[in-house]
Amino acid sequence: MSIESLRADIVEIGRRMYARGYTASNDGNISVRVGDDRLLMTPKSVCKGFMTPDMMCVTDLAGKKIQGDRDPSSEMLMHLEVYQQRPDVRAVVHAHPPTATGFAVAGIPLDRAVLAEVLTTLGSIPLAEYATPSTSELPEAVRKYIKAHDGMLLANHGALTVGGDLYSAYYKMETVEHFAQISLVARMLGRENLISREEVLRLQGLRGTYGIQAPAPICLDPDVTGGAGTSAPAQTVVAGPREGAEDAATCQTVQAPAGTGSRLVAALDFTNEARFRASGALRQAASEASGEAEIRLTYRELSALIEDAIKNLR
Ligand SMILES: [Zn+2]
Repeated sequence: MSIESLRADIVEIGRRMYARGYTASNDGNISVRVGDDRLLMTPKSVCKGFMTPDMMCVTDLAGKKIQGDRDPSSEMLMHLEVYQQRPDVRAVVHAHPPTATGFAVAGIPLDRAVLAEVLTTLGSIPLAEYATPSTSELPEAVRKYIKAHDGMLLANHGALTVGGDLYSAYYKMETVEHFAQISLVARMLGRENLISREEVLRLQGLRGTYGIQAPAPICLDPDVTGGAGTSAPAQTVVAGPREGAEDAATCQTVQAPAGTGSRLVAALDFTNEARFRASGALRQAASEASGEAEIRLTYRELSALIEDAIKNLR
């Protein structure tokens, strides 16, 4: 692909990102490999919605500017880290799409087995820990997940996606934001049925059929049978790198409960436990309280009580 058409593709993708509200003002950045040892990158301090092809910078793989009137993106270090860790990646997109970034601000990774298409393509979307933008902290935070993931959230910042070409990286950004929106709506509706781990593995098997080149497999611990054959609620399996692990992720951690024969499983939620605790707390409070005494409940206990009351109304 000629460098002229890559310049034009970056302009077009910048326009789409801005039009979809994935960036505001001068946020976000885009880069692509040109040949084996050059990168074409968006410049610093321009709105991605109004770029022209001549604005782009050409750098080497160490970030040294080779060509261009402007300086390369302030997040160049993050891009360089991706290219260094992932020889297969030819393009990188960074933006602040509001719903995905909301999850990143709330500290919630998009790693639940919810949508079949997301499982086959991205697997899971982890949350890289907070790092000061444009410093060397950010590439360090990204390093933990980039070998095994094509998309991730950046805590209190935004999202990062990568691909074999510019459009593939950009479409993954669309997928991340779309997935975040759907997850948010499901959670607002109060129910998130998850795809069972058995079905997750079946979906992973389809990657080959669709020609999807995932950087790493989905990881589910085969030893955990969680709830199978019992009346206990299915156990949510969180496999893969544990919290606080220093090592880089080598697989895509997905939260999927054991199916016990069914392919969709009610999310193991916290409300059963919270309801139990809430009713206990209420009973205890009632027995201790007399007259106008105050009853104290945590927010979660109160939510569980309200949810219960609504269910009883139906
Ligand atoms: Zn940013």
